[in-house]
Amino acid sequence: MKRKAFLIDITECVGCGACYEACKEQNNLPQTSDDPLRDSLSDKTYTIVEQRGDFFVRRMCQHCEDPTCVSVCPVGAFTKTEVGAVLYDESKCLGCRYCMQACPFQIPRYEWGSVKPRVQKCIMCYDRVKNGELPACAEACPTGATLFGDRDEMIEIAKQRLAENPEKYYQHIYGLEEVGGTSVLYISPVPFEELGFNTKLLKTALPNFTHEALAKIPTLVTVGGVLLTGFYWLTNRKNEIAREKFEEKKKQNLRGEE
Ligand code: SF4
Ligand code: SF4
Ligand code: SF4
Repeated sequence: MKRKAFLIDITECVGCGACYEACKEQNNLPQTSDDPLRDSLSDKTYTIVEQRGDFFVRRMCQHCEDPTCVSVCPVGAFTKTEVGAVLYDESKCLGCRYCMQACPFQIPRYEWGSVKPRVQKCIMCYDRVKNGELPACAEACPTGATLFGDRDEMIEIAKQRLAENPEKYYQHIYGLEEVGGTSVLYISPVPFEELGFNTKLLKTALPNFTHEALAKIPTLVTVGGVLLTGFYWLTNRKNEIAREKFEEKKKQNLRGEE
């Protein structure tokens, strides 16, 4: 199967939140806000629509072509699939959260409130895509602001729109080259920095740099037995502390409501 991608055309997005609702339904995620425009990414919300001035911008995992989350994970809990989706295997995850620190788009979220916490994020509706279906969010979008298909085709459509409507679009496809390319591409009526996008990202994939950087601190990335055991204990201990804090906060909130 060919490499897939989203094309998000910000000029077409009306901020209706149908993508947000469809994602919730598809992934059995609880409602976290009555207003999709006021919600935030979380372990229970894999995509949001943010209002930035006069425009609406979707945020979700970018499914980077050469993802940093994959390269920094010491146990291979993240994988880049043949269709482009970046998946996560909770059975392998140690809970170190390197993926969260390394992601250039600040996407992965941790289940702080869970007894067995996982990292959560958009998975490009992988099962649907493998079966030749559209991701739920793309299917639900009433205006065509979220398109989905072969990455080559999405790039062609984006280029064509920029070329045919130079007055309508800022002449850049975000995600074509950023961090070595992503499987979520954006086209916009205004420069991307005006919409809060990070436009300072390198054009090459980050993992090469990450490996170099991490190689300089071997104790941090060694996955050999002894270190891994210590690291695993440490991570679990950190999780316990975080969970205790979370539970305490929850109790305080409940007391406040009484
Ligand atoms: S956006 Fe972040 S979580 Fe998603 S693939 Fe890229 S590095 Fe991984
Ligand atoms: S691709 Fe699927 S998981 Fe990702 S934002 Fe869209 S509906 Fe949610
Ligand atoms: S469903 Fe389409 S138009 Fe509605 S908020 Fe999502 S991307 Fe924008």
